[in-house]
This record gives sequence, structure tokens and C-alpha cells, in this order.
Amino acid sequence: MNAGEALADPRLKSKGASGNHRQSFNSPLLMFVVPLPQPQKDTDMPDFDTLIYEKPEAGIARIWLNRPEARNAQDTHLLYELNDAFDIAMDDSEVKVVILAAKGPHFSAGHDLRDINSRGSEHKRVGTWSDDKWEGSEAYYCREKEIYEGFCRRWRDLAKPTIASVHGKSIAGGLMLIWPCDFVIASDDATFQDNTMYMGIPGVEYFAHVWELGIRKAKEFLLTGQPITAEEAQAAGMVNRVVSRDELEEATLAFARTLSDKPSFALKLGKDAINAAFHAQGFENVQRSAFNAHHLAHTHYRLHQDGSFIDREFMRNFQSKKKSD
Ligand code: ZN
Repeated sequence: MNAGEALADPRLKSKGASGNHRQSFNSPLLMFVVPLPQPQKDTDMPDFDTLIYEKPEAGIARIWLNRPEARNAQDTHLLYELNDAFDIAMDDSEVKVVILAAKGPHFSAGHDLRDINSRGSEHKRVGTWSDDKWEGSEAYYCREKEIYEGFCRRWRDLAKPTIASVHGKSIAGGLMLIWPCDFVIASDDATFQDNTMYMGIPGVEYFAHVWELGIRKAKEFLLTGQPITAEEAQAAGMVNRVVSRDELEEATLAFARTLSDKPSFALKLGKDAINAAFHAQGFENVQRSAFNAHHLAHTHYRLHQDGSFIDREFMRNFQSKKKSD
């Protein structure tokens, strides 16, 4: 979304100063008092089906994943809404930093597998791989190129700093909301897991495992498919801070303040310089290779197991073995 489209977006009902600001300036006694930043009312905020967008403090936008009944599983609509929400924050000159948090008991259970055949045609595509005439493997490849790999790469390079505020479980696609963020604040009940190996798939579509965890821990994480705790993730360098569940919201805001008190342009330049190092380390090549391997696996099971996109036979045997143990 460009600036003009964002301003024309009907969800953006008002981005002007609040009534409190005007009242302060109009009062003779307060004429020279700089008004304190006021949280904007909910009615001023863009309206989403699967998210809550708010500005809790000056300089800070916060996006809540808000499908708690589905453990914040990501369907196509949620991903496009999240992309729109990020664009709104990027387009708002009052916002210097963005928090991504989650309502409900878990951060995200991953991709909503009930929705994997959705083409999302009602949304304006942001990438250039897709059209509405997809067939065969091209259909699945282009869909994931747009809404999984494409969004993650785009979100990794958003101009303004982003903070994932994580609690409960984050499984598979859940990682793909966390890893593109610049910082991760986790509560001590948080666990992280890429369980795609159980599906016969070699990792989630956004293949940042090595950069997030280091080579040896990344192999353990990917090949065993076992969850790691917030403390393990912090020791591996994937998480910046671990706090109690009760402290998570305030600790994330406190961290955000240590960014929002800096000049926005400098924050953008500093972030971009570090992301340049990430790209110089070969992420682009690794990502392309891993994404193609991921789709080789999808296509293998589609050919071999009557259209399934994952190793259904393994999962059936695994689940029945687990029951008999
Ligand atoms: Zn996939």
C-alpha cells in the first residue's frame, strides 16, 4: 500500500490530533504547555477482523493477533490484514516502533491448515509471482511465495523497528511472525517449535533457522522437531529478553520506549545497516534453496499420497504409535 492508498483507506477514520490536545492549546492557562501525548481512542484506529491495531503511547504502534479461539492460527485473510497493519504503521509519521503481540493463551499455532487452498483473490497481491490462473504445483508454489515467504521477507525489511512480544506456544508458521521482527521479548512460559519434520517437510517456508539459532542448535531444532523454551531461545540468541508472563506487556512497552526516544530516521538507517549484514551472509541464497526444497517435499506427497501436501502416511502411523505407547 502506498501513502495515498493508506490515507484513502476507509479503515483509517482519523489520524488527527485528539480532542484533548486541542483543549490544552485552547485553554489560556495551558497556552504554553506542551500537551502530553495521549493514547488515541479505539475509534481512531483502523479496524481489522483478525487484529487489533492501537497506539498505546506516543511513537509506538501495537498490533495484536486476535484469533484467540483459533490459537491465532494464520489464515490468508489474517496475513493480508497483518501486512496492511504494518503498512499503516510505516506510513504514520507518529510511529517509530511497532509491537506485534497476541491475544489468548498462545502467540500462534502456525498456519491455518483449513485454509491452505485459499487463493486470497479478494486481497490486492503485494508480490509479483501470483495470478488467478494458477494450476498444479505452480498454484501452491506461487501462493506460498506470496503470503509466506514474500510477506516474511517484506516484514524483515520494514523500515521501522519491530518487536515480537511472545507468550505461550509458537509453532511452525508462528515462527514466521516472530523471526522477521527485529527484537523478541518472550515470557518465561513461551516455547518455540518447528514441527514440519513430523509432516515430512524440511522446515517452515521462511528459512531463518541458522541465523536465529546458530548452526548446531538450528540442526537440533529443525531435525528433531522438538520445542525449545524461552530460556533456550535466549541462550541461542533468538530472544532478547525473558520476563514473567505478568510482566510481558509492560516489559515490551519499556523496551519499545528505548527505541521510540531516538530519531526515527536513525533507527531506520541502523536497522537497514544490520539487515545488510544479514543479507550479505547469504540469507537470500539459503532462502531460495530451502523454499524450493520445501516445495519439492509438498509436490512429492501430492504425487505420492493422493494429493496430500504433507506426509499423511507418516503422521497417521506416528499418531497411532503414540496412542499405543
Ligand atoms: Zn508450505
